[in-house]
Amino acid sequence: MNTKRSTPYLSGEILRLISYCPLCEAPTKPLRARILEDKAGGNLIHLQCANCHSSMLALVVNSPFGITSIGLITDLTSDDVLRFKDKAGLTADEVLEVHQLLYKEGDK
Ligand SMILES: [Zn+2]
Repeated sequence: MNTKRSTPYLSGEILRLISYCPLCEAPTKPLRARILEDKAGGNLIHLQCANCHSSMLALVVNSPFGITSIGLITDLTSDDVLRFKDKAGLTADEVLEVHQLLYKEGDK
């Protein structure tokens, strides 16, 4: 785990996100946090509730105007996020190719 931190403190949104689980609202159970990306411009943090095991991703961005954060609920593990975060998105041709593999002519 990368323990080097470029952010000396966390924004209020992140502190609110870390202080309780938004799904089970268990304030006393600690959230497990793993910093996945630590750059000068911001941090990507994976949080998992110790009570209900739901996961959240938090993106903390440092800008000249202050620190902002975005949080979202995910079913990805922290390792999944590391594996997929720099991959290109799916193309329409790839989606059509999978559709053709799954559904043969005449299927509904
Ligand atoms: Zn929870």
